[in-house]
Amino acid sequence: MALDIDRIRDETPGCAHVLHLNAAGSSLPSRRTLDATIDHLRLEAEIGGYEAADRARPVLDGFYPSIATLIGAEPGEIAYVENATRAWDLAFYSLDFKPGDRILTCVSEYSSNYISYLQVAKKTGAEIVVIPDDKHGQIDLAALERAIDKRTKLVSISHIPTQGGLVQPAEAVGKIVNDAGILYLLDACQSVGMMPVDVKKIGCDFLSATGRKYMRGPRGTGFLYARQRSTAQIEPIFLDNHAARWSGDNDYTVMPDAKRFENWERYFAGVIGLKVAADQCNELGMPAIWARLRELADGLRTRLATVKGVTLTDLGVTKGAIVTFAVDGKDHPALKQALRDQRINVSVSTQFSSRLDLKGRGLKDVMRASVHVYNTEEELDRFVAALRPLVAG
Ligand SMILES: *Cc1c(COP(=O)(O)O)cnc(C)c1O
Repeated sequence: MALDIDRIRDETPGCAHVLHLNAAGSSLPSRRTLDATIDHLRLEAEIGGYEAADRARPVLDGFYPSIATLIGAEPGEIAYVENATRAWDLAFYSLDFKPGDRILTCVSEYSSNYISYLQVAKKTGAEIVVIPDDKHGQIDLAALERAIDKRTKLVSISHIPTQGGLVQPAEAVGKIVNDAGILYLLDACQSVGMMPVDVKKIGCDFLSATGRKYMRGPRGTGFLYARQRSTAQIEPIFLDNHAARWSGDNDYTVMPDAKRFENWERYFAGVIGLKVAADQCNELGMPAIWARLRELADGLRTRLATVKGVTLTDLGVTKGAIVTFAVDGKDHPALKQALRDQRINVSVSTQFSSRLDLKGRGLKDVMRASVHVYNTEEELDRFVAALRPLVAG
């Protein structure tokens, strides 16, 4: 079913103020999400934080089934974590790497993840193997298959990179990795909320995501999925009195489900906001959202292709909602600022976030315009009209 865009815009307060093409940075939340978050902050102030949590218990407990529904998981496989990086860290740093163990990743990998590979490699003697891209700029599946050997402990990739429209073939990767009986960690920070993500179809053991990007949740929220069947024996790198029980004077018992990756204190208003945001994704339907976002993004690429001096830089066979481009002879951060001055929000992706990919392509940085359901064709026209003189000037 097609989305009611007018209604979505009416229910998104930010639409009245900005032309927001920065969903990949942080998207505009709906009023419902905003109200749910603020109402809980207010309740905390009025009756006390613990008392507010008690009163909101059904909603807080509802976080797990709502997220589980969104990604095809079981509620017990979901941990609330304050952002995608920490969620990813909790999975990655809980693995026990030995000298010679191999970590396979992809060219488009996110900088924070890669820094963690480097740190663990330095500490443990594990090795990092970057699987090359195929001719479409996606991970080369045949090369991945060839690279897997007895020493391979983990395949870890980002589903959709921060720096472009690329959608990695996560499901095909999963098939190869599962057949080999290796652990599969998927950074789904940009894909959850953008496209249908089904952990059972993908076959990942861990998946990390953030609230504020395509889910349209509050900042400072995220989650980790840990497949029960394959990760139950993995003890988290951190334990506290929420992740484990102090069951004897010299003993503790780790929570049997994904709650073992959580910790006790959290941004409760954020949990509620993210739950509501996930419910909205489920209600609108991820297939409908994905269809609309691809329509908008393809429309934007088509428009940008008509601007002299603009080169589109998105890779991959299926392109998602993140549109990137380079402008001949222009300073991208200055362009971003000039647009910001007109209340048009875009961002710039630099080698800071993906060194291998952008450096490998000889790109210092790229302009990034990332669409969401509240954007319209009229806005895309307005954006390109604002860009034209800046590119020519
Ligand atoms: C934004 C991003 C992250 C980091 O997410 P945080 O919520 O900021 O920790 C990780 N991976 C990718 C691909 C991202 O785009």
